[in-house]
Amino acid sequence: MNASTNDLIALERAYGARNYDPLPVVLSRGEGVWLWDAQGAQYLDMLSAYSAVSFGYGHPRLVAALTQQAQRLAVTSRAFFSDRLPPFLKKLCEVTGMDRALPMTTGAEGVETAIKCARKWGYTVKGIPNGKARIIVCAGNFHGRTSTIVGFSSEAQYREGFGPYADGFDAVPFGDTRALEAAIRPDTAAFLVEPVQGEAGIIVPPEGYLTEVLRICRANNVLMIVDEVQTGLGRTGKVLACHHEGVQPDAIILGKALGGGLIPVSAFCGRASVLDVFKPGDHGSTFGGNALAATVGLESLNVLLDEKLAERAAVMGEYLMQRLKTIASEMIVDVRGKGLLIGLEIDTRRATARQFVETLLKHGVLSKDTHGTVARLAPPLVIDREQIDWGVQRIREALREYGPVYEKAA
Ligand code: PMP
Repeated sequence: MNASTNDLIALERAYGARNYDPLPVVLSRGEGVWLWDAQGAQYLDMLSAYSAVSFGYGHPRLVAALTQQAQRLAVTSRAFFSDRLPPFLKKLCEVTGMDRALPMTTGAEGVETAIKCARKWGYTVKGIPNGKARIIVCAGNFHGRTSTIVGFSSEAQYREGFGPYADGFDAVPFGDTRALEAAIRPDTAAFLVEPVQGEAGIIVPPEGYLTEVLRICRANNVLMIVDEVQTGLGRTGKVLACHHEGVQPDAIILGKALGGGLIPVSAFCGRASVLDVFKPGDHGSTFGGNALAATVGLESLNVLLDEKLAERAAVMGEYLMQRLKTIASEMIVDVRGKGLLIGLEIDTRRATARQFVETLLKHGVLSKDTHGTVARLAPPLVIDREQIDWGVQRIREALREYGPVYEKAA
């Protein structure tokens, strides 16, 4: 690290709130799957901004859509119609198989929208006594950082110090359909679930989980709401992770990649009977669905489909997984995931996951630790075989710092 890198880090530490502890690299440029720091050193991005940059840095179609629209019209608020929002809403419904879409800005806002919608549906459609609606969530969930959402997190650091917590949430173990069935009460309005738990350490539920969840929700008149903020838009090898099981829930939440890696765009999409509980004035957001966001969101969906990025994530994810599985290192405890959402669990007796991702950084691979034990490997979906080989070679070199590394049969 040279002086200017250290100066920039010191400047951020001096003037920024300390709610993040970034890896010691100062990025200044990105293209496709690659990032460069201020000194011109090159890195392979295996984080994709937590799946927000699924299309890679500076995708020409997305940058063109953004810049052309920014010059024409950006934010007018929803006090008026715009010529950009209607086609975006239509495309969202086509892609998700839903009837209605409600555009918001961040993932957490999309989840907040889902919570409000589920509660109002509980009162006005299901007949739950006012103020009593409950929502079942999963242990290990991650749905964002608002005060309501952290209240039902099972992660001590996300919760502690931020109470009092909102009432009305019950937690069940992830992947456990019997526990879900047992937790449902007459006043349960919805079950909120991630198809693969991302922040919890890339936890893939048992085969058939979502299918059984849908059956249980239907049998009990409980809404099934799937948070696809991280897993959606191709990340796991299907356009939506629910599609692996052919499951059509009552509603889904999209975010991250919907903004093309350029701006924040999220959406809550669902069946008409669910979203129609919202009346004018019930809910909103100044920036949600603005002309610029709608343009980038629509182009992101078009790029996803035109470039067949979900199919690509399935093939490249399989390839990356298979290449990782040929690495024999005592540092690796587990390699798991779906599509290009892969977790490398490491032996924390040898190093913390944080130390390991710092070693990866030194070898030119950008990743992030999650849960103290897992390095997340989630590159942009545009990655090719050669780039994966490059990354795996660097991962192998990083592992070698902790002990011998051999090849094994996949
Ligand atoms: N839901 C899931 C599944 C997520 O992974 C995240 C972010 N990691 C969020 C919601 C929150 O999104 P945002 O940070 O845009 O609020």
